[in-house]
Amino acid sequence: MSAKRDYYEVLGVAKNATPEEIKKAYRQKARKLHPDVNRDDPQAADKFKEVSDAYEVLSDAQKRQMYDRFGHDAFDPTRGGAGGFGGADFGGGFGDIFDLFFGGGFGGSTRRRTGPQRGADREVRLDISFEDAVFGVEKEIEISRVENCERCSGSGAEPGSKVNTCSACNGSGQSRVVQSTPFGRFETVRTCATCRGEGKVVEKPCTNCRGTGKVKKARKIEVRVPAGVDHGSHLRIQGEGEAGSYGGPPGDLFISLAVKPHPVFKRDGYTLISNIEIDFVQAALGADIEMDLLGGAHHTLHIPEGTQPGDIITIKGKGVPYIHGNRQGDLKVVVKIKIPTRLSKRQKELLNEFRQEDKSGRKGLFDKFKDAMG
Ligand SMILES: [Zn+2]
Ligand SMILES: [Zn+2]
Repeated sequence: MSAKRDYYEVLGVAKNATPEEIKKAYRQKARKLHPDVNRDDPQAADKFKEVSDAYEVLSDAQKRQMYDRFGHDAFDPTRGGAGGFGGADFGGGFGDIFDLFFGGGFGGSTRRRTGPQRGADREVRLDISFEDAVFGVEKEIEISRVENCERCSGSGAEPGSKVNTCSACNGSGQSRVVQSTPFGRFETVRTCATCRGEGKVVEKPCTNCRGTGKVKKARKIEVRVPAGVDHGSHLRIQGEGEAGSYGGPPGDLFISLAVKPHPVFKRDGYTLISNIEIDFVQAALGADIEMDLLGGAHHTLHIPEGTQPGDIITIKGKGVPYIHGNRQGDLKVVVKIKIPTRLSKRQKELLNEFRQEDKSGRKGLFDKFKDAMG
């Protein structure tokens, strides 16, 4: 992929432009660059997509903030940046955006079918483990998608055979029908039936794709899942969707992440949650307990004197890494306290002694208890 232009430059606005200024600039550019009104410019589709991409990011406060911090890398998980992250909100290709601006009235019958059409977006699900979501992982996925036929380079014509300009429409892809009515002469423009709007007729269809120019291909795609993603997160891989038509760009591939639950750890945003079970003596006197962190590292957890059931001990910075930025959430350990079900005679005596001591006043309680448990 070639170097991307700065989004602010693409829209021709200042870095501190207001959302209204961005919207206005986008509307102006989109009208000017839309492929349906730039039939003679083969690069219109790319320019239009560039403008659409810029607007998609700059019109969304959160995405804009990310872009300001990380540049283009913020949205491209295949690069070394902070990981691509975006909602699956860009779909439908040019038509939808076009209708948005012109109310659909301008398109309609004059819409040229031969203009570049962006390929369809694809969405696939990727199952990953709880740990992979927290620490990040690289995965290879296999998808079956529509690509341009290699034999005919997507033209649909058998190599060596000719592609003729459609004689019915002289290559315009449209047929004009002039009708005289009591209200005047009306000219209706329709898609040419002979060439189905392509403006060209293939002499001999390609034997590999039967003249469609498209084939289904199984592809392996490397997916870099950034650390900190969560169940339901989407990754967007630009240009890995289905092939476009008539020179249009390919669609995007969206990866919908499904994170498997962990037997020990749970998660609330960037906070990790786990439990620890201690006995009532450790709770009363305090203790240092070895525990495993997510990922296998050891940690000595300090239980303070007088810890209560349900108390939460926070370990700073041992939670989930933030997707963007060098921060890490906290680990919260919920304390559970085991009460013994079987006591020896001696233990019962000690506890009874403890109760007597407890009744006689709270002063020096812990010291006495410590001595007794010795
Ligand atoms: Zn072919
Ligand atoms: Zn035709």
